Amino acid sequence: MHLDEIVSWLKETDTGRLDALYSEANETRRRFVGDAVHLRGLIEISNHCSRGCAYCGLRAGNRALERYRMTREEIVDSARVALASGYGTVVMQAGEDHAITAEWLAGIIREIKRETGLAVTLSMGERSEADLAAWRQAGADRYLLRFETTDPALYRKIHPTFPGAPDRIALLGTLRRMGYEIGGGVMIGIPGQSYRTLAQDIRTFRSLDLDMIGVGPYIPHPATPLGQGLIRSDLPEGEQVRATEDMCYRVLALTRIMCPQANIPATTALATVNGRSGRELGLQRGANVIMPNVTPLKYRRYYEIYPGKACVNEPAKHCSNCIRGRIHAIGRAVGTGAGGRIRKAVPA
Ligand code: SAH
Repeated sequence: MHLDEIVSWLKETDTGRLDALYSEANETRRRFVGDAVHLRGLIEISNHCSRGCAYCGLRAGNRALERYRMTREEIVDSARVALASGYGTVVMQAGEDHAITAEWLAGIIREIKRETGLAVTLSMGERSEADLAAWRQAGADRYLLRFETTDPALYRKIHPTFPGAPDRIALLGTLRRMGYEIGGGVMIGIPGQSYRTLAQDIRTFRSLDLDMIGVGPYIPHPATPLGQGLIRSDLPEGEQVRATEDMCYRVLALTRIMCPQANIPATTALATVNGRSGRELGLQRGANVIMPNVTPLKYRRYYEIYPGKACVNEPAKHCSNCIRGRIHAIGRAVGTGAGGRIRKAVPA
């Protein structure tokens, strides 16, 4: 799809046409990745962060947030919970926490692989090539690193870098060369994001041939510069992307059509803006993955990248039953196995 076509879908007002877009996305999803919904157990291993991202509640400048770092035993236990819940993958995510050393996490990755055999996905931010290589060597399979926006000026505004900081898009290339499956994505509706930029982001998902793509609504956090309105959009009224639920479905659908083989989650952020049916609608408009939280309950509320996060008080067992019920209720199946990227030729 050309840039202009994507832009016009993002601005479309005719609900009949949008329904046709959603049907096409759903059909593409079915043909390329099937009816299975893969479950990934999310372990939020640390909320310490050395960075100052203008959107994220974990930013170093948020002194009000109580910080935690899970122990090795707690992390491995959470992986056991994921295995017992029938999930095929664990995703370890954290702020950019440099007390997490390459050796420490490599030891944990080895233990999880040895004991559970689960696919291991990491989302640890921008780390050195040596760290990323050590984790890959220890058995990590996949890496999630959203590039947040393809507009360099907007990126600099919302994601302050430091001298020598790697460019996220370049880092995704490095991760791929190391043999990781790679995941990227963006938030929808950050102040300063135009429809053209968002359309370019979607085209970039395709040009990078991402294996996994995470998109969800931007949700303002009051302890951040963006949430406090200190960084504002200077776009004309009609050009600023709205951070609405409806916009998320359009982006999900367009992403599926552009990247038919990718694994695409119905994100927690989407469930946060619509707890009743956000996940289901996401799954019916392009998504094929859900990431239930298996972080110990005592830590959940401190991993507050945005406020009001869905399911902060739900024990893992409850989440597993709830998610399975939701998947079956829309006539889909729960995926088995690791649920990696399927590379299939485009059917005639
Ligand atoms: N430190 C890791 C993990 C960050 S959290 C990293 O930087 O890659 C994972 C994702 O949550 C981020 O990439 C961002 O896209 C999203 N996120 C952060 N703050 C958010 C907010 N206020 N609203 C919605 N999504 C947010």
